Amino acid sequence: MKIIDMHCDTIERLYFLNKKNKTEGETKEKETLRENSGHLDLLRMQENNYHLQNFALFVDRALWPDPWQGVETLWKLYQQELQTYQDIICQIRTYEDVVNGDGRLKSMLTVEEGGVCQGSVKKLHELYRMNVRMMTLTWNYRNELGTPATPIVDTSEAGRVGKMTPVAQKKLEVGEGAKNGKNHSGLTEKGREFVEEMQHIGMIVDVSHLSDDGFWNVVETSRKSFVASHSNARAICPHGRNLTDEMIKKIGETGGCIGLNYHLDFLLPHSCEERDGGIRTGETCNYIWEMVAAHARHIVQKGGIEVLGLGSDFDGIPTNIAIPGVEGVEKLWWKLKERGFTEGELDKIMYKNVLKVYKECL
Ligand SMILES: [Zn+2]
Ligand SMILES: [Zn+2]
Repeated sequence: MKIIDMHCDTIERLYFLNKKNKTEGETKEKETLRENSGHLDLLRMQENNYHLQNFALFVDRALWPDPWQGVETLWKLYQQELQTYQDIICQIRTYEDVVNGDGRLKSMLTVEEGGVCQGSVKKLHELYRMNVRMMTLTWNYRNELGTPATPIVDTSEAGRVGKMTPVAQKKLEVGEGAKNGKNHSGLTEKGREFVEEMQHIGMIVDVSHLSDDGFWNVVETSRKSFVASHSNARAICPHGRNLTDEMIKKIGETGGCIGLNYHLDFLLPHSCEERDGGIRTGETCNYIWEMVAAHARHIVQKGGIEVLGLGSDFDGIPTNIAIPGVEGVEKLWWKLKERGFTEGELDKIMYKNVLKVYKECL
């Protein structure tokens, strides 16, 4: 078993955790990429057959008044960590880097929040020079490129999954506002320009967090495969962040990939207002595994066996008790096998499907 995972927020977590400990004068040891108390670190990746991890520079615009400064700051931390632990991990730039190697772990740099470019194609090129190879067009705020699936309207409510009023959340859970076909809820002209330019220079377009209209605008504009790096099936869990059957089918037809997300709000079919990241009474690990398998089965059924990959969202979500960190991913393999996936199919899900997209797009 080999693992490729399309999304984690470990760099952002490390940055804010160490900053907080420093300002509060904590004497706790500094947490590093090599070893930390979060969901993912290099030592555990090595023990658990990881091949490649995408590390996102996630910029929450509520925390970074200048989003470009945000992405540069996180990039510096990423560079430092990769430099320090270069005996364990190396950064990939091309598909050759992905498949050839010397046994070290591999890292692909991505950006979560296309708004860091502030609409500037020059900045997009700069990101490419910084070795960013995948980018979500939006996070949970409307930006220069388009509208997200679950927009945060009030920034004082800013949270990782876009906390909203129960009524607004309900609307989004059923995908309302996406069905009305209004242009302003999809990609802007600049967003379309970015899709074209990203694919031209070899940066993978990521539609996770994007609105339904935005998704279909990407389909119209795109000339290559694209990914939803960390999204699940809306038919199983009716959250706006998840994909409709039509979207899953389209990603399958166009050769793209969907990364299975371990966030309970995107896995379990009860409202996240009640759940708020955790589990409710009666929800057990076994139930969570049933639902993980239900998403996997559904996505494969709608989009084909080549469409599904992994997109853990580690360190960007509350801990999922069934998959509390990279050490839980081997269990995922066994749980899916128990529920009918063959070893050949699991190889595709664990890494081969994502490889195929990287081969085409990088
Ligand atoms: Zn993230
Ligand atoms: Zn995300």
